[in-house]
Amino acid sequence: TTDAPPAEDISADDIFIAVKTTKKFHRSRLDLLLDTWISRNMQQTYIFTDGEDEELKKKIGSHAINTNCSAAHSRQALSCKMAVEYDKFIESGKKWFCHVDDDNYVNVKTLVKLLSNYPHTQDMYIGKPSLDRPIEATERLGDNKMRPVNFWFATGGAGFCVSRGLALKMSPWASGGHFMNTAEKIRLPDDCTIGYIIESVLGVSLTRSSLFHSHLENLQQVSKSEVHKQITLSYGMFENKRNIINMKGAFSVEEDPSRFKSVHCLLYPDTPWCPPQVAY
Ligand code: UDP
Ligand code: MN
Repeated sequence: TTDAPPAEDISADDIFIAVKTTKKFHRSRLDLLLDTWISRNMQQTYIFTDGEDEELKKKIGSHAINTNCSAAHSRQALSCKMAVEYDKFIESGKKWFCHVDDDNYVNVKTLVKLLSNYPHTQDMYIGKPSLDRPIEATERLGDNKMRPVNFWFATGGAGFCVSRGLALKMSPWASGGHFMNTAEKIRLPDDCTIGYIIESVLGVSLTRSSLFHSHLENLQQVSKSEVHKQITLSYGMFENKRNIINMKGAFSVEEDPSRFKSVHCLLYPDTPWCPPQVAY
């Protein structure tokens, strides 16, 4: 599809990027994103958190949204945040809703390229499944009745996107308080609930992209020569070892353990804090 003409000529301004975070990660995770990819994409990025933070407001103003959801890592608290993300997207009038976590780097240029392949009025749900098979869940109907359901979902930790056309159809199950009720019906996390609404309720299939990355996969497999093609990256720990992309870059692993600063200098070498352009 990369050689085909774009289905729609969109720009970064047509995308609503929701970053999910929590107050305890504002300094340790979010500041890194604000210094890197968000600094180049302030207009399309909205931060959904659970506490007031003057420092954050100074940096991004009204794009820091206090959801007033609980700061717990519970299914309910996370669904509460996703519900607010959805409502703010609908309100924004933008063409694409993309969700990421606060340990994701987003390459907005490649994201724009990918989404340009599809009309935003069409039903589109794009991301990377976290399992190699559909999740098996139980839908709780009224009167103590249950029904098994199987569906694919895109991992929230790798980021995913939904077209406006599809998002509008999700409204009866996702808008206002409905998202929380829907999440309770299947008792699964927020990203699974999105998959349930789209695949099980609306019958629309997930479009897979291998360009989205979470720390559930082995990130060593993403190499420096391929970094610029990826849409999202992440970092994390696995069995007490760093799970990070494999690149020599502007900064050492000690200075830049996530590798996001090095990635940023590769993608935006004119950044003032990046070392002068030499072959890294
Ligand atoms: N998160 C949150 N509230 C919490 C804990 C985590 O909103 O109490 C967010 C966090 O900021 C991140 C996402 O949930 O965007 C996933 O959290 P984390 O990366 O710590 O866990 P993972 O599920 O990736 O192992
Ligand atoms: Mn994570």
